[in-house]
Amino acid sequence: MNSKQIILVDIDNSISATNEKLKEVVPGFTTERYPFPFPPHFFEESSIFDDVKPVKGAMEKLKEWHDKGHFIYYVTARDSSSFHRTVRWLKKHGFPSSLVICSKNKQRVASIIGATIAVDDAPNEIEQLKSVVARVLVPAHDYNKQYENRFFNWSDVAI
Ligand SMILES: [Mg+2]
Repeated sequence: MNSKQIILVDIDNSISATNEKLKEVVPGFTTERYPFPFPPHFFEESSIFDDVKPVKGAMEKLKEWHDKGHFIYYVTARDSSSFHRTVRWLKKHGFPSSLVICSKNKQRVASIIGATIAVDDAPNEIEQLKSVVARVLVPAHDYNKQYENRFFNWSDVAI
C-alpha cells in the first residue's frame, strides 16, 4: 500500500514478551487464566517492564514502517507511572522513536490520532479497536484465537 498509515502499536505481548517475564516472577501466572487476577497496583512503578525481552522481529518491522513514512504511536494500557521506563525500554531495544501514550481507553486514542491500523493482542482491546480502526493486526496468543488477522511472526506482517 502506498498511502501513509497511522499505526497504533500496543506494547505488552505485542512487541514485548511480557508474559514470559510474568511466568518467571509471578507465582501461578498462566495465560490460560485470562485476564489473570494480579494484585492491586501490581504494575504501578513495576521494574518488571525493564527486563522484558522484545518480541523477535518487532523492532525491525516497526523500523521498516517508520522508514517508509508511516506514523507509529505506541499506545499502552500501562499505568502512566510506567511512562518513563517504557520510553527507556523502547530506546534501549532500538525501536523507532515516537510518541508513547499510556491510556486505558485505546479506542478513544485511536479515534483522536486517526489510526488506520492497530496492533494489539488483548481481546478487550481488539474488540474496542475494531470499531474505529480499519484493520487490527493480532499477535497470536492462545487467548486470542477467535480473531482475524493473527500473525505468529512479525516478519510475516505486511501492510
Ligand atoms: Mg498487549
